[in-house]
Amino acid sequence: MRTDYCGRLSVDDIGRTVTVCGWVSKRREHGEFLAFVDLRDRTGIIQCVVDHAHDIRSEYVLAVTGTIRERPPETINHELPTGAIEIGEATVEILSEAEPTPFQLSGRVEVDETIRIRHRYLDLRTDRMQRNLRSRALINAAIRRAMDAQEFVEVETPMLIASTPEGARDFVVPSRLNPGNFYALPQSPQLFKQLCMVGGIDRYYQIARCMRDEDLRADRQFEFTQLDMEMSFVDGQEVRAVVSQAVAEAAELITGHKPSAIPEMSWLEAMNRYGSDKPDIRFDLELVDLTEIFSETDFNAFKAPCIKGIRVEGGGETGRNKLDQLTDKAKTWGAKGLVWIKVGESGEVSSPVAKFMSDAEIAGLIDKLGAGNGDICYLVADEWRRAVHVLGLLRLELGRPPVNEGGFHFLWVIDFPLFEDIDDAGNPVPAHHPFTMPHLEDLELLAASGEDPSVLLDVRSQAYDLVLNGWELGSGSVRIHSRDIQQQIFDLLGIGEEESQRKFGFLMDAFRYGAPPHAGFAFGIDRLVALLVGEENIREVIAFPKSQSGTDPLTEAPTPIDSAQLDELGLRLLPPAN
Ligand code: ASP
Repeated sequence: MRTDYCGRLSVDDIGRTVTVCGWVSKRREHGEFLAFVDLRDRTGIIQCVVDHAHDIRSEYVLAVTGTIRERPPETINHELPTGAIEIGEATVEILSEAEPTPFQLSGRVEVDETIRIRHRYLDLRTDRMQRNLRSRALINAAIRRAMDAQEFVEVETPMLIASTPEGARDFVVPSRLNPGNFYALPQSPQLFKQLCMVGGIDRYYQIARCMRDEDLRADRQFEFTQLDMEMSFVDGQEVRAVVSQAVAEAAELITGHKPSAIPEMSWLEAMNRYGSDKPDIRFDLELVDLTEIFSETDFNAFKAPCIKGIRVEGGGETGRNKLDQLTDKAKTWGAKGLVWIKVGESGEVSSPVAKFMSDAEIAGLIDKLGAGNGDICYLVADEWRRAVHVLGLLRLELGRPPVNEGGFHFLWVIDFPLFEDIDDAGNPVPAHHPFTMPHLEDLELLAASGEDPSVLLDVRSQAYDLVLNGWELGSGSVRIHSRDIQQQIFDLLGIGEEESQRKFGFLMDAFRYGAPPHAGFAFGIDRLVALLVGEENIREVIAFPKSQSGTDPLTEAPTPIDSAQLDELGLRLLPPAN
Protein backbone atom coordinates (compact mmCIF):
# COMPACT_ATOMS: atom_id res chain seq x y z
CA MET A 1 0.00 0.00 0.00
CA ARG A 2 2.89 2.37 0.57
CA THR A 3 6.14 3.31 -1.11
CA ASP A 4 7.86 4.69 1.97
CA TYR A 5 7.80 5.00 5.77
CA CYS A 6 7.01 8.44 7.22
CA GLY A 7 10.06 8.79 9.43
CA ARG A 8 12.56 7.59 6.83
CA LEU A 9 11.88 10.35 4.28
CA SER A 10 14.57 13.01 3.98
CA VAL A 11 15.81 15.86 1.79
CA ASP A 12 17.24 13.19 -0.51
CA ASP A 13 13.66 12.36 -1.50
CA ILE A 14 12.75 15.88 -2.67
CA GLY A 15 10.91 15.63 -5.96
CA ARG A 16 9.81 12.03 -5.49
CA THR A 17 6.15 11.12 -5.46
CA VAL A 18 5.49 8.86 -2.50
CA THR A 19 2.65 7.11 -0.71
CA VAL A 20 2.81 6.76 3.07
CA CYS A 21 0.32 5.18 5.46
CA GLY A 22 -0.30 5.83 9.11
CA TRP A 23 -2.26 7.59 11.86
CA VAL A 24 -3.05 11.29 12.10
CA SER A 25 -0.98 12.59 14.95
CA LYS A 26 -2.07 16.21 14.60
CA ARG A 27 -4.06 18.43 12.24
CA ARG A 28 -3.69 22.21 11.99
CA GLU A 29 -5.48 24.63 9.68
CA HIS A 30 -3.27 26.45 7.21
CA GLY A 31 -5.08 29.38 5.71
CA GLU A 32 -8.48 28.98 4.18
CA PHE A 33 -7.95 26.03 1.88
CA LEU A 34 -5.22 23.89 3.32
CA ALA A 35 -4.46 21.93 6.44
CA PHE A 36 -1.28 20.43 7.84
CA VAL A 37 -1.57 16.82 8.85
CA ASP A 38 1.22 15.11 10.80
CA LEU A 39 1.11 11.48 9.75
CA ARG A 40 2.69 8.91 12.08
CA ASP A 41 3.85 5.35 11.53
CA ARG A 42 6.28 3.18 13.49
CA THR A 43 9.28 5.07 12.08
CA GLY A 44 8.21 8.64 12.86
CA ILE A 45 6.22 11.57 11.55
CA ILE A 46 5.92 13.43 8.23
CA GLN A 47 4.00 16.64 7.62
CA CYS A 48 1.48 16.48 4.77
CA VAL A 49 -0.24 19.49 3.27
CA VAL A 50 -3.77 18.45 2.36
CA ASP A 51 -6.92 20.02 1.08
CA HIS A 52 -8.88 21.58 3.89
CA ALA A 53 -12.09 19.99 2.66
CA HIS A 54 -11.08 16.55 3.95
CA ASP A 55 -12.73 15.77 7.25
CA ILE A 56 -9.65 14.37 8.94
CA ARG A 57 -9.37 13.96 12.69
CA SER A 58 -6.76 12.68 15.10
CA GLU A 59 -5.97 8.98 14.82
CA TYR A 60 -7.72 8.52 11.48
CA VAL A 61 -5.81 6.01 9.38
CA LEU A 62 -4.75 7.45 6.04
CA ALA A 63 -2.88 6.65 2.86
CA VAL A 64 -1.35 9.89 1.64
CA THR A 65 0.17 10.33 -1.83
CA GLY A 66 2.10 13.42 -2.90
CA THR A 67 5.44 14.87 -3.86
CA ILE A 68 8.20 15.53 -1.32
CA ARG A 69 9.25 19.18 -1.24
CA GLU A 70 11.39 21.42 0.86
CA ARG A 71 9.63 23.46 3.54
CA PRO A 72 9.94 27.25 3.47
CA PRO A 73 12.91 28.11 5.75
CA GLU A 74 10.78 29.78 8.43
CA THR A 75 8.64 26.67 8.86
CA ILE A 76 11.46 24.16 9.31
CA ASN A 77 10.98 22.11 12.48
CA HIS A 78 14.41 21.31 13.89
CA GLU A 79 13.03 18.95 16.51
CA LEU A 80 11.70 16.54 13.90
CA PRO A 81 14.09 14.40 11.79
CA THR A 82 11.83 15.03 8.78
CA GLY A 83 11.35 18.68 9.78
CA ALA A 84 12.88 20.17 6.62
CA ILE A 85 10.46 18.52 4.18
CA GLU A 86 6.78 17.88 3.67
CA ILE A 87 4.45 16.05 1.32
CA GLY A 88 2.89 18.81 -0.77
CA GLU A 89 -0.61 18.93 -2.21
CA ALA A 90 -1.30 15.43 -1.17
CA THR A 91 -4.24 13.26 -2.05
CA VAL A 92 -5.71 11.47 0.89
CA GLU A 93 -7.47 8.15 1.19
CA ILE A 94 -9.17 7.54 4.51
CA LEU A 95 -8.57 3.88 5.40
CA SER A 96 -10.22 4.03 8.81
CA GLU A 97 -11.97 6.62 10.90
CA ALA A 98 -11.35 7.02 14.63
CA GLU A 99 -13.40 8.23 17.53
CA PRO A 100 -11.75 10.71 19.89
CA THR A 101 -9.27 8.70 21.97
CA PRO A 102 -9.72 8.48 25.76
CA PHE A 103 -6.30 10.05 26.25
CA GLN A 104 -3.83 12.01 24.23
CA LEU A 105 -1.22 9.90 22.45
CA SER A 106 1.44 12.50 21.80
CA GLY A 107 3.39 14.68 24.19
CA ARG A 108 4.15 14.08 27.82
CA VAL A 109 0.74 13.97 29.40
CA GLU A 110 0.35 11.96 32.60
CA VAL A 111 -2.44 9.44 32.09
CA ASP A 112 -3.93 7.18 34.74
CA GLU A 113 -2.30 3.79 34.31
CA THR A 114 -5.52 1.78 34.46
CA ILE A 115 -6.86 3.81 31.55
CA ARG A 116 -3.65 3.21 29.63
CA ILE A 117 -3.81 -0.55 30.21
CA ARG A 118 -7.53 -0.73 29.42
CA HIS A 119 -6.75 0.84 26.02
CA ARG A 120 -3.32 -0.68 25.65
CA TYR A 121 -3.76 -0.88 21.85
CA LEU A 122 -3.79 2.93 21.87
CA ASP A 123 -1.03 3.24 24.44
CA LEU A 124 1.16 1.04 22.23
CA ARG A 125 1.03 3.80 19.60
CA THR A 126 2.90 6.21 21.89
CA ASP A 127 6.61 6.89 21.39
CA ARG A 128 7.35 5.53 24.83
CA MET A 129 5.72 2.14 24.31
CA GLN A 130 7.02 1.84 20.75
CA ARG A 131 10.55 2.46 21.97
CA ASN A 132 10.20 0.14 24.98
CA LEU A 133 8.82 -2.83 23.05
CA ARG A 134 11.32 -2.38 20.25
CA SER A 135 14.19 -2.27 22.78
CA ARG A 136 12.79 -5.38 24.40
CA ALA A 137 12.78 -7.25 21.10
CA LEU A 138 16.35 -6.13 20.38
CA ILE A 139 17.47 -7.28 23.82
CA ASN A 140 15.82 -10.67 23.36
CA ALA A 141 17.50 -11.03 20.00
CA ALA A 142 20.90 -10.07 21.46
CA ILE A 143 20.50 -12.61 24.25
CA ARG A 144 19.55 -15.32 21.76
CA ARG A 145 22.56 -14.45 19.60
CA ALA A 146 24.89 -14.59 22.60
CA MET A 147 23.51 -17.95 23.73
CA ASP A 148 23.50 -19.45 20.23
CA ALA A 149 27.08 -18.29 19.69
CA GLN A 150 28.07 -20.10 22.90
CA GLU A 151 26.48 -23.30 21.57
CA PHE A 152 23.42 -23.37 23.81
CA VAL A 153 20.40 -25.33 22.65
CA GLU A 154 17.01 -23.69 23.02
CA VAL A 155 14.61 -26.22 24.53
CA GLU A 156 10.94 -25.50 25.24
CA THR A 157 9.78 -26.97 28.51
CA PRO A 158 6.10 -27.63 29.31
CA MET A 159 3.65 -25.13 30.78
CA LEU A 160 1.33 -27.67 32.41
CA ILE A 161 3.44 -29.36 35.02
CA ALA A 162 3.58 -30.55 38.59
CA SER A 163 4.59 -27.93 41.15
CA THR A 164 8.06 -26.30 41.02
CA PRO A 165 9.60 -25.39 44.34
CA GLU A 166 10.65 -21.75 43.80
CA GLY A 167 9.00 -20.73 47.02
CA ALA A 168 6.03 -18.82 45.57
CA ARG A 169 2.40 -19.89 45.31
CA ASP A 170 1.49 -21.90 42.20
CA PHE A 171 -1.12 -20.96 39.66
CA VAL A 172 -3.09 -24.15 39.12
CA VAL A 173 -5.10 -25.45 36.20
CA PRO A 174 -7.81 -28.08 36.75
CA SER A 175 -7.55 -31.19 34.64
CA ARG A 176 -10.73 -32.14 32.77
CA LEU A 177 -9.53 -35.63 31.96
CA ASN A 178 -8.40 -36.30 35.51
CA PRO A 179 -11.10 -34.71 37.66
CA GLY A 180 -9.88 -33.57 41.04
CA ASN A 181 -6.33 -33.22 39.73
CA PHE A 182 -4.49 -30.05 38.86
CA TYR A 183 -1.53 -28.94 36.85
CA ALA A 184 0.65 -26.15 38.13
CA LEU A 185 1.94 -23.48 35.77
CA PRO A 186 5.73 -23.35 35.96
CA GLN A 187 7.27 -20.98 38.47
CA SER A 188 10.41 -21.71 36.45
CA PRO A 189 11.70 -24.52 34.23
CA GLN A 190 14.09 -25.52 37.05
CA LEU A 191 13.43 -29.25 37.23
CA PHE A 192 13.17 -29.70 33.48
CA LYS A 193 16.44 -27.97 32.80
CA GLN A 194 18.11 -30.25 35.31
CA LEU A 195 16.54 -33.21 33.52
CA CYS A 196 17.94 -31.81 30.26
CA MET A 197 21.40 -32.05 31.84
CA VAL A 198 20.80 -35.70 32.77
CA GLY A 199 19.65 -36.01 29.15
CA GLY A 200 23.01 -34.90 27.80
CA ILE A 201 21.85 -31.53 26.32
CA ASP A 202 24.95 -30.07 28.01
CA ARG A 203 24.03 -26.41 27.34
CA TYR A 204 20.35 -25.49 27.60
CA TYR A 205 18.65 -22.14 27.38
CA GLN A 206 15.18 -20.79 26.97
CA ILE A 207 13.54 -17.39 26.99
CA ALA A 208 10.98 -18.79 29.39
CA ARG A 209 7.65 -17.53 30.68
CA CYS A 210 7.25 -18.14 34.40
CA MET A 211 4.18 -17.78 36.60
CA ARG A 212 4.21 -17.01 40.32
CA ASP A 213 1.16 -16.12 42.37
CA GLU A 214 2.75 -13.41 44.51
CA ASP A 215 1.73 -9.87 45.36
CA LEU A 216 2.44 -7.54 42.46
CA ARG A 217 4.97 -4.74 42.77
CA ALA A 218 6.84 -2.32 40.54
CA ASP A 219 9.34 -5.04 39.69
CA ARG A 220 7.01 -8.02 39.85
CA GLN A 221 4.13 -9.35 37.73
CA PHE A 222 2.37 -12.73 37.99
CA GLU A 223 3.89 -13.78 34.69
CA PHE A 224 7.35 -12.76 33.69
CA THR A 225 10.02 -13.72 31.22
CA GLN A 226 13.46 -14.93 32.08
CA LEU A 227 16.56 -16.08 30.32
CA ASP A 228 16.79 -19.54 31.80
CA MET A 229 19.98 -21.56 31.29
CA GLU A 230 21.83 -24.62 32.55
CA MET A 231 25.23 -26.16 31.81
CA SER A 232 26.95 -29.45 32.58
CA PHE A 233 30.50 -30.07 33.84
CA VAL A 234 31.07 -26.47 34.90
CA ASP A 235 31.43 -24.46 38.07
CA GLY A 236 29.58 -21.28 38.98
CA GLN A 237 32.36 -19.13 37.53
CA GLU A 238 31.76 -20.53 34.04
CA VAL A 239 28.02 -19.97 34.31
CA ARG A 240 28.60 -16.37 35.35
CA ALA A 241 30.91 -15.83 32.38
CA VAL A 242 28.21 -17.00 29.94
CA VAL A 243 25.51 -14.88 31.54
CA SER A 244 27.82 -11.86 31.72
CA GLN A 245 28.39 -12.18 27.99
CA ALA A 246 24.65 -12.25 27.27
CA VAL A 247 23.82 -9.21 29.42
CA ALA A 248 26.84 -7.31 28.10
CA GLU A 249 25.61 -7.76 24.54
CA ALA A 250 22.12 -6.66 25.50
CA ALA A 251 23.41 -3.61 27.37
CA GLU A 252 25.75 -2.63 24.56
CA LEU A 253 22.93 -2.72 22.08
CA ILE A 254 20.88 -0.24 24.07
CA THR A 255 23.58 2.02 25.52
CA GLY A 256 26.04 1.93 22.63
CA HIS A 257 29.01 0.91 24.73
CA LYS A 258 30.29 -2.32 26.17
CA PRO A 259 29.90 -2.57 29.93
CA SER A 260 33.14 -3.35 31.78
CA ALA A 261 33.69 -6.79 33.32
CA ILE A 262 31.12 -7.46 36.04
CA PRO A 263 32.72 -7.39 39.51
CA GLU A 264 32.01 -10.09 42.12
CA MET A 265 31.35 -9.59 45.81
CA SER A 266 30.54 -12.11 48.51
CA TRP A 267 27.13 -11.93 50.14
CA LEU A 268 28.77 -11.21 53.48
CA GLU A 269 30.73 -8.28 52.08
CA ALA A 270 27.62 -6.93 50.35
CA MET A 271 25.68 -7.07 53.61
CA ASN A 272 28.49 -5.48 55.60
CA ARG A 273 29.22 -2.66 53.15
CA TYR A 274 25.79 -1.97 51.71
CA GLY A 275 23.33 -3.62 54.08
CA SER A 276 21.75 -5.44 51.16
CA ASP A 277 22.15 -8.62 49.15
CA LYS A 278 21.43 -6.56 46.04
CA PRO A 279 23.57 -3.49 46.55
CA ASP A 280 23.09 -0.45 44.38
CA ILE A 281 26.76 0.37 43.73
CA ARG A 282 26.03 3.47 41.66
CA PHE A 283 26.81 5.47 44.83
CA ASP A 284 29.01 5.09 47.93
CA LEU A 285 27.53 5.96 51.32
CA GLU A 286 28.91 2.69 52.65
CA LEU A 287 28.20 1.18 56.05
CA VAL A 288 31.08 1.34 58.54
CA ASP A 289 31.49 -1.03 61.47
CA LEU A 290 31.75 0.76 64.84
CA THR A 291 31.16 -2.17 67.17
CA GLU A 292 34.72 -2.18 68.48
CA ILE A 293 34.59 1.51 69.47
CA PHE A 294 31.64 0.89 71.76
CA SER A 295 32.82 -2.42 73.22
CA GLU A 296 33.01 -0.99 76.75
CA THR A 297 30.34 1.67 76.50
CA ASP A 298 28.16 2.86 79.38
CA PHE A 299 25.46 3.93 76.92
CA ASN A 300 22.78 1.29 77.42
CA ALA A 301 21.26 1.61 73.94
CA PHE A 302 24.67 0.80 72.46
CA LYS A 303 25.30 -2.36 74.48
CA ALA A 304 24.47 -4.32 71.35
CA PRO A 305 26.19 -7.08 69.35
CA CYS A 306 26.68 -4.78 66.35
CA ILE A 307 26.96 -1.05 65.77
CA LYS A 308 27.09 0.32 62.25
CA GLY A 309 27.10 3.82 60.88
CA ILE A 310 27.01 5.85 57.69
CA ARG A 311 28.23 9.37 57.06
CA VAL A 312 26.47 11.80 54.78
CA GLU A 313 28.83 14.44 53.51
CA GLY A 314 27.39 17.93 53.95
CA GLY A 315 24.31 16.48 55.67
CA GLY A 316 24.76 18.71 58.74
CA GLU A 317 21.98 21.00 57.58
CA THR A 318 19.37 18.26 57.93
CA GLY A 319 16.50 19.72 59.97
CA ARG A 320 14.74 18.28 62.99
CA ASN A 321 11.61 17.34 61.07
CA LYS A 322 13.49 15.34 58.51
CA LEU A 323 15.49 13.62 61.26
CA ASP A 324 12.29 12.66 63.06
CA GLN A 325 10.87 11.28 59.83
CA LEU A 326 14.00 9.21 59.22
CA THR A 327 13.87 7.89 62.78
CA ASP A 328 10.24 6.86 62.29
CA LYS A 329 11.14 5.11 59.07
CA ALA A 330 14.03 3.29 60.71
CA LYS A 331 11.57 2.02 63.32
CA THR A 332 9.22 0.70 60.66
CA TRP A 333 12.22 -1.12 59.20
CA GLY A 334 12.75 -2.83 62.55
CA ALA A 335 15.25 -0.58 64.34
CA LYS A 336 14.81 0.29 68.00
CA GLY A 337 16.02 3.77 67.18
CA LEU A 338 18.27 5.85 64.97
CA VAL A 339 21.09 7.89 66.42
CA TRP A 340 22.36 10.95 64.57
CA ILE A 341 25.44 13.00 65.24
CA LYS A 342 26.25 16.26 63.49
CA VAL A 343 29.68 17.80 63.16
CA GLY A 344 29.30 21.59 63.07
CA GLU A 345 31.16 24.04 60.86
CA SER A 346 33.82 24.52 63.52
CA GLY A 347 34.02 20.87 64.49
CA GLU A 348 31.58 20.93 67.43
CA VAL A 349 29.51 17.78 67.84
CA SER A 350 25.78 17.84 68.41
CA SER A 351 23.51 14.90 69.06
CA PRO A 352 20.70 14.15 71.50
CA VAL A 353 22.77 11.22 72.78
CA ALA A 354 26.22 12.85 72.86
CA LYS A 355 25.95 13.15 76.64
CA PHE A 356 25.75 9.35 76.97
CA MET A 357 28.93 8.73 75.02
CA SER A 358 32.49 9.18 76.19
CA ASP A 359 34.79 11.64 74.42
CA ALA A 360 36.87 8.75 73.18
CA GLU A 361 33.80 7.04 71.69
CA ILE A 362 32.74 10.22 69.89
CA ALA A 363 36.25 10.87 68.61
CA GLY A 364 36.51 7.22 67.56
CA LEU A 365 33.30 7.14 65.56
CA ILE A 366 34.05 10.45 63.86
CA ASP A 367 37.45 9.21 62.89
CA LYS A 368 36.23 5.79 61.69
CA LEU A 369 33.44 7.32 59.62
CA GLY A 370 35.77 10.02 58.32
CA ALA A 371 33.25 12.71 59.31
CA GLY A 372 34.30 16.29 58.65
CA ASN A 373 32.78 19.67 59.43
CA GLY A 374 29.26 19.99 58.11
CA ASP A 375 28.64 16.23 57.93
CA ILE A 376 26.04 14.08 59.66
CA CYS A 377 26.44 10.47 60.82
CA TYR A 378 23.66 7.96 61.43
CA LEU A 379 24.19 5.01 63.76
CA VAL A 380 22.21 1.87 64.49
CA ALA A 381 22.94 -0.57 67.32
CA ASP A 382 21.31 -3.98 67.10
CA GLU A 383 21.90 -7.57 66.11
CA TRP A 384 24.09 -7.70 63.02
CA ARG A 385 21.32 -8.61 60.60
CA ARG A 386 18.95 -5.89 61.74
CA ALA A 387 21.64 -3.23 61.99
CA VAL A 388 22.87 -3.76 58.43
CA HIS A 389 19.32 -4.12 57.11
CA VAL A 390 18.14 -0.82 58.59
CA LEU A 391 21.22 1.14 57.56
CA GLY A 392 21.06 -0.43 54.10
CA LEU A 393 17.55 0.93 53.66
CA LEU A 394 18.56 4.31 55.08
CA ARG A 395 21.45 4.40 52.62
CA LEU A 396 19.02 3.94 49.73
CA GLU A 397 16.64 6.51 51.16
CA LEU A 398 19.39 9.11 51.42
CA GLY A 399 21.46 8.46 48.35
CA ARG A 400 19.75 6.44 45.66
CA PRO A 401 19.82 8.17 42.26
CA PRO A 402 16.77 8.06 39.96
CA VAL A 403 16.47 4.98 37.76
CA ASN A 404 17.83 6.67 34.64
CA GLU A 405 20.92 8.23 36.24
CA GLY A 406 24.33 6.99 37.26
CA GLY A 407 24.95 4.49 34.46
CA PHE A 408 24.63 0.72 34.62
CA HIS A 409 26.42 -1.06 37.45
CA PHE A 410 26.15 -4.82 37.26
CA LEU A 411 27.39 -6.89 40.19
CA TRP A 412 27.65 -10.61 40.94
CA VAL A 413 26.85 -11.41 44.54
CA ILE A 414 28.30 -14.84 45.34
CA ASP A 415 28.54 -17.24 48.29
CA PHE A 416 25.01 -16.74 49.55
CA PRO A 417 24.15 -18.59 52.74
CA LEU A 418 22.33 -21.85 52.07
CA PHE A 419 19.60 -21.00 54.58
CA GLU A 420 18.29 -17.57 55.39
CA ASP A 421 16.54 -18.36 58.64
CA ILE A 422 15.29 -21.08 60.98
CA ASP A 423 11.49 -21.12 61.10
CA ASP A 424 9.32 -21.52 64.20
CA ALA A 425 9.13 -25.27 63.67
CA GLY A 426 12.94 -25.37 63.81
CA ASN A 427 13.37 -26.03 60.07
CA PRO A 428 15.85 -23.97 58.10
CA VAL A 429 14.39 -21.79 55.32
CA PRO A 430 16.34 -22.19 52.06
CA ALA A 431 17.73 -18.95 50.61
CA HIS A 432 17.52 -20.32 47.03
CA HIS A 433 15.66 -23.45 45.93
CA PRO A 434 16.41 -26.80 47.57
CA PHE A 435 18.56 -28.06 44.67
CA THR A 436 21.40 -25.68 45.48
CA MET A 437 24.76 -27.24 46.30
CA PRO A 438 26.30 -26.25 49.63
CA HIS A 439 29.95 -25.20 49.70
CA LEU A 440 31.84 -28.43 49.95
CA GLU A 441 33.89 -27.15 52.91
CA ASP A 442 30.67 -26.45 54.78
CA LEU A 443 29.20 -29.94 54.36
CA GLU A 444 30.50 -30.84 57.83
CA LEU A 445 28.27 -28.16 59.32
CA LEU A 446 25.26 -29.91 57.83
CA ALA A 447 26.24 -33.07 59.62
CA ALA A 448 26.86 -31.17 62.89
CA SER A 449 23.51 -29.39 62.78
CA GLY A 450 21.79 -32.21 64.67
CA GLU A 451 23.15 -30.83 67.93
CA ASP A 452 22.85 -27.14 67.14
CA PRO A 453 20.62 -26.12 64.22
CA SER A 454 21.90 -22.53 64.41
CA VAL A 455 25.17 -23.63 62.73
CA LEU A 456 23.09 -24.08 59.58
CA LEU A 457 22.99 -20.32 59.16
CA ASP A 458 26.76 -20.41 58.61
CA VAL A 459 26.57 -22.89 55.73
CA ARG A 460 27.49 -21.16 52.51
CA SER A 461 25.88 -22.21 49.25
CA GLN A 462 27.21 -22.20 45.73
CA ALA A 463 24.50 -19.74 44.75
CA TYR A 464 24.95 -16.38 43.06
CA ASP A 465 22.77 -13.44 42.10
CA LEU A 466 23.15 -10.89 39.36
CA VAL A 467 22.35 -7.36 40.48
CA LEU A 468 21.94 -4.23 38.39
CA ASN A 469 21.65 -0.81 40.05
CA GLY A 470 20.16 -2.35 43.17
CA TRP A 471 17.65 -4.60 41.39
CA GLU A 472 18.03 -8.35 41.65
CA LEU A 473 18.05 -9.47 38.02
CA GLY A 474 18.28 -13.15 38.77
CA SER A 475 19.76 -16.07 40.64
CA GLY A 476 21.44 -19.34 39.97
CA SER A 477 23.56 -21.99 41.55
CA VAL A 478 25.64 -25.08 41.23
CA ARG A 479 23.14 -27.90 41.73
CA ILE A 480 23.18 -30.95 43.85
CA HIS A 481 23.64 -33.95 41.56
CA SER A 482 23.98 -36.57 44.23
CA ARG A 483 20.90 -38.33 45.60
CA ASP A 484 22.46 -38.57 49.04
CA ILE A 485 23.20 -34.88 49.49
CA GLN A 486 19.81 -34.05 48.00
CA GLN A 487 18.04 -36.30 50.50
CA GLN A 488 20.11 -34.80 53.33
CA ILE A 489 18.92 -31.30 52.31
CA PHE A 490 15.32 -32.45 51.99
CA ASP A 491 15.57 -33.97 55.47
CA LEU A 492 16.92 -30.73 56.91
CA LEU A 493 14.13 -28.78 55.24
CA GLY A 494 11.61 -31.09 56.83
CA ILE A 495 10.64 -32.61 53.49
CA GLY A 496 10.35 -36.28 54.36
CA GLU A 497 11.17 -39.19 52.10
CA GLU A 498 7.52 -39.73 51.14
CA GLU A 499 6.97 -36.06 50.29
CA SER A 500 10.22 -35.68 48.37
CA GLN A 501 9.43 -38.84 46.41
CA ARG A 502 5.94 -37.57 45.60
CA LYS A 503 7.09 -34.08 44.59
CA PHE A 504 10.51 -34.58 43.07
CA GLY A 505 10.72 -38.36 42.70
CA PHE A 506 11.22 -38.02 38.95
CA LEU A 507 14.33 -35.89 39.48
CA MET A 508 15.72 -38.17 42.17
CA ASP A 509 15.03 -41.16 39.92
CA ALA A 510 16.79 -39.47 37.00
CA PHE A 511 19.83 -39.02 39.24
CA ARG A 512 20.06 -42.82 39.51
CA TYR A 513 21.14 -43.04 35.89
CA GLY A 514 24.24 -40.87 35.72
CA ALA A 515 23.72 -37.20 36.54
CA PRO A 516 26.48 -34.86 35.37
CA PRO A 517 27.59 -32.11 37.74
CA HIS A 518 25.67 -29.06 36.56
CA ALA A 519 24.94 -25.43 37.31
CA GLY A 520 22.70 -22.72 35.93
CA PHE A 521 21.08 -19.38 36.18
CA ALA A 522 18.04 -17.34 35.25
CA PHE A 523 17.56 -13.59 35.01
CA GLY A 524 14.44 -11.53 34.51
CA ILE A 525 14.23 -9.98 31.09
CA ASP A 526 11.44 -7.59 32.12
CA ARG A 527 13.71 -6.12 34.80
CA LEU A 528 16.75 -5.92 32.56
CA VAL A 529 14.81 -4.15 29.81
CA ALA A 530 13.15 -1.74 32.25
CA LEU A 531 16.48 -0.65 33.69
CA LEU A 532 18.19 -0.37 30.32
CA VAL A 533 15.44 1.86 28.93
CA GLY A 534 15.17 3.86 32.18
CA GLU A 535 11.73 2.75 33.39
CA GLU A 536 10.90 2.36 37.10
CA ASN A 537 8.14 -0.16 36.53
CA ILE A 538 8.33 -3.38 34.55
CA ARG A 539 4.75 -2.85 33.35
CA GLU A 540 6.18 -0.21 31.00
CA VAL A 541 8.13 -2.84 29.09
CA ILE A 542 5.38 -5.47 28.96
CA ALA A 543 2.93 -5.25 26.07
CA PHE A 544 -0.13 -6.37 28.03
CA PRO A 545 0.55 -6.23 31.76
CA LYS A 546 -1.74 -6.83 34.71
CA SER A 547 -2.58 -3.92 36.98
CA GLN A 548 -1.31 -3.72 40.54
CA SER A 549 -4.34 -5.66 41.78
CA GLY A 550 -3.55 -8.56 39.46
CA THR A 551 -6.43 -7.97 37.08
CA ASP A 552 -6.33 -7.08 33.42
CA PRO A 553 -8.41 -3.94 32.78
CA LEU A 554 -8.33 -4.70 29.04
CA THR A 555 -9.75 -8.22 28.89
CA GLU A 556 -11.16 -8.13 32.42
CA ALA A 557 -9.42 -11.35 33.37
CA PRO A 558 -9.84 -13.10 35.70
CA THR A 559 -13.53 -13.78 35.01
CA PRO A 560 -15.99 -16.34 36.36
CA ILE A 561 -16.57 -19.47 34.27
CA ASP A 562 -20.01 -20.88 33.60
CA SER A 563 -21.47 -23.81 35.47
CA ALA A 564 -21.20 -26.20 32.52
CA GLN A 565 -17.45 -25.63 32.45
CA LEU A 566 -17.26 -26.13 36.21
CA ASP A 567 -19.22 -29.38 35.91
CA GLU A 568 -16.93 -30.62 33.19
CA LEU A 569 -13.94 -29.96 35.43
CA GLY A 570 -15.66 -31.56 38.40
CA LEU A 571 -15.48 -28.31 40.39
CA ARG A 572 -17.94 -26.68 42.80
CA LEU A 573 -17.46 -23.15 44.05
CA LEU A 574 -17.75 -22.27 47.71
CA PRO A 575 -19.48 -19.01 48.57
CA PRO A 576 -16.87 -16.22 48.62
CA ALA A 577 -15.11 -15.94 51.98
CA ASN A 578 -15.62 -12.58 53.67
N1 ASP B 1 15.16 -21.51 38.80
C1 ASP B 1 15.76 -20.33 39.37
C2 ASP B 1 14.78 -19.17 39.30
O1 ASP B 1 13.89 -19.18 38.47
C3 ASP B 1 17.00 -19.92 38.68
C4 ASP B 1 18.05 -20.95 38.72
O2 ASP B 1 18.43 -21.40 39.79
O3 ASP B 1 18.57 -21.29 37.65
O4 ASP B 1 14.91 -18.22 40.05
